[in-house]
Amino acid sequence: QGFAYTAETGHDSDLTSRTREPEWEDNIGYFIKKKLSIWCRLVDGQWGLGTILSTSGEQACVLLSSGTSINVPVGELLPANPDILEGVEDLIQLSYLNEPSVLHCLQYRYSRDMIYSKAGPVLVAINPFKDTQIYGRDVITSYRNRTASSPHVYTIADTAYNEMMRDDVNQSIIISGESGAGKTETAKIAMQYLAALGGSSTVGIKHEILQTSCILEAFGNSKTTRNDNSSRFSRVVQLATGERSFHVFYQLCAGAPSPLQERLNLKLAHEYNYLNQSGCLTIDGVDDAKRFDRLLDALDIVRIPTEDQEEVFAVLAAILWLGNVTFKVTDSENHVDVIADEAITTAARLMGCTTNDLVLALSTWKIVGGTDSISKKLTLQQATDTRDALAKFLYARLFDWLVEQINKSLEMGKQCTGKSINILDIYGFESFQKNRFEQFCINYANERLQQHFNRHLFKLELEDYEADGIDWTRIDFEDNEDCLDLIEKKLFGILSLLDEESNFPKATDLTFANKLKQHLNANACFRGERDGAFSLCHYAGEVLYDTSGFLEKNRDPVLPDLIQFLSSTGCKLPRLFASRIPCQSPKAGSSLNRMGSIDSHKQSVGAKFKSQLFKLMHQLETTKPHFIRCIKPNSKQLPGLYEEDLVLQQLRCCGVIEVVRISRSGYPTRMPHQEFAERYGFLLMGDLVSKDPLSISVAVLQQFNIHPEMYQVGFTKLYLRTGQIATLEDKRKQL
Ligand code: ATP
Ligand code: MG
Repeated sequence: QGFAYTAETGHDSDLTSRTREPEWEDNIGYFIKKKLSIWCRLVDGQWGLGTILSTSGEQACVLLSSGTSINVPVGELLPANPDILEGVEDLIQLSYLNEPSVLHCLQYRYSRDMIYSKAGPVLVAINPFKDTQIYGRDVITSYRNRTASSPHVYTIADTAYNEMMRDDVNQSIIISGESGAGKTETAKIAMQYLAALGGSSTVGIKHEILQTSCILEAFGNSKTTRNDNSSRFSRVVQLATGERSFHVFYQLCAGAPSPLQERLNLKLAHEYNYLNQSGCLTIDGVDDAKRFDRLLDALDIVRIPTEDQEEVFAVLAAILWLGNVTFKVTDSENHVDVIADEAITTAARLMGCTTNDLVLALSTWKIVGGTDSISKKLTLQQATDTRDALAKFLYARLFDWLVEQINKSLEMGKQCTGKSINILDIYGFESFQKNRFEQFCINYANERLQQHFNRHLFKLELEDYEADGIDWTRIDFEDNEDCLDLIEKKLFGILSLLDEESNFPKATDLTFANKLKQHLNANACFRGERDGAFSLCHYAGEVLYDTSGFLEKNRDPVLPDLIQFLSSTGCKLPRLFASRIPCQSPKAGSSLNRMGSIDSHKQSVGAKFKSQLFKLMHQLETTKPHFIRCIKPNSKQLPGLYEEDLVLQQLRCCGVIEVVRISRSGYPTRMPHQEFAERYGFLLMGDLVSKDPLSISVAVLQQFNIHPEMYQVGFTKLYLRTGQIATLEDKRKQL
């Protein structure tokens, strides 16, 4: 659904009434006569360049640039841009903004190592998957001196910095794109530029900021099938084939010096169950031991004390040993004991507990009722889940702690201006064969970001028109409020229905799916599907979600209780956790709730995600945003390979085509009067000497019968509708 903003203020009634642009098909005769280039969709779905020889009814005979001629339906043709627009820096400059033209323009630039382009206010970055010579000190200097101006992350960072200083407003650089598209690299490039701006007085802090990436990547990134260095969340206990856990585990196993190795009783990576289950222990071209040395340096640079570093490694080793803890079934109901071996004793020692306490924590369940409490043995499944949940919990807390330390350390070295530039590196929209709770959350976040993007963009368009005295009557604008509402609304929104079901002990994923159908089937953005699935109409397309696992994943993991139990037994947990153990004592009458229903005072995962997202959006709303869309040109992580379909799908998903469409609905070509007059003024008959650029421009438009609805004259620029420049270029060529 679209909505339209309407403005009533206009300065020339002739120009205010807006009719539809003529369909390009009405001009096919012109294209034939002038042998103008067109795009033709071929049988394999690709677009080929050609010219139209003739038409007959709905069929056209096209001569392709390869020399062959074919017959295709007219509907499979689109106009191509004149040569002068080949490889333009900003897609908005294209006279024809159709998909093949956009794809071709980006490919043209990409194949010449111009990986950055603009789509209006958005920077499009195509991952080169190789070293390009477009970064480093000299390039930074030329962007700072404005001797270089072509689209670049540096321009975005420079603009953000200048606007922060000039307007005293916080800025944000929002980087999105799919896995492997280059978000994290782009964020680093932006940081390098900003660090260089600081000048020599901030050498220390500069160095520190850049070192933080090394730490955050060791602890936050892993190898996946789509990216050797992917920013990830939880993958501590389970790995897919060919993927790895967080880099730091392998770095520690490979690089720990022998005294540390001994203290932690460290083995090689392949001896740990949490690491050896995926058949992938190394990454081509990466030396984990060397990386460990670099990590140690980085930890020193951000001033993490050696004792704390030691504790960090102890927690990592404890997690690895936890993964090797095994159970044996003791009765017909599948109840278990922990097998007494090196794994449980080492894990307990590294966690600061007695072996006995850890055994109890992993294999029994304590129910508190009034003043009494009873112990109950766990089944194999429950015990395994508890062990894995503990490992994940330890890792998550460790990561939070590290981020906190890094921030503290940076805070200390900061020259306080009170203003900031936030760089947001966020997972892009996902649509797989099977989409689960994770995809649902990711896409929900992207839906919110898209709304932010739309609103900002629309505001910019209006500002531009208004500043130049241009009347704009109606510009249709995509709005995704309906989809957001469907997910978020308090009564019968997907998240609230999910929480409701999560609270029902007897509910299953299927009852949840049915509940959605029952309440939401009338909603245009929702469709209940078979087998517990449902689909949502996202801004980037329809996605089919499989509800299996939704309830379980939405329920709050109950690990804080477990940690609390451990600390209540006098267990000396590593100091890193000291401030983070929940301090409320279990209420009398409530159980140490491990059955998986949500206590009223606890937040579900979905609710927590929503409130974190709101916090993020709130923070972003106080900043001036700058958008970078990263595109992955191929799924093989190879240089020089441009897969049209893959690129197109991403352009749609990240709204680039939409930006272009919005501009198309207005006046996409904007040329300063001076520039226009210089390029086309000579076409005029008669003497020009006395005329100013604006009068020349208007005279050109009139002489060539450009219809008044096709342009507007602003204070500084001429605004032209799609296709008008192509017409003028054609006239220009004839002379
Ligand atoms: P994820 O969502 O999985 O974290 P991502 O979008 O953050 O993915 P990156 O890790 O930034 O992706 O990039 C993947 C790889 O692509 C990098 O490791 C690097 O090899 C290459 N790459 C990305 N951007 C560039 C660039 N500007 N120049 C050279 N190589 C790049
Ligand atoms: Mg990343």
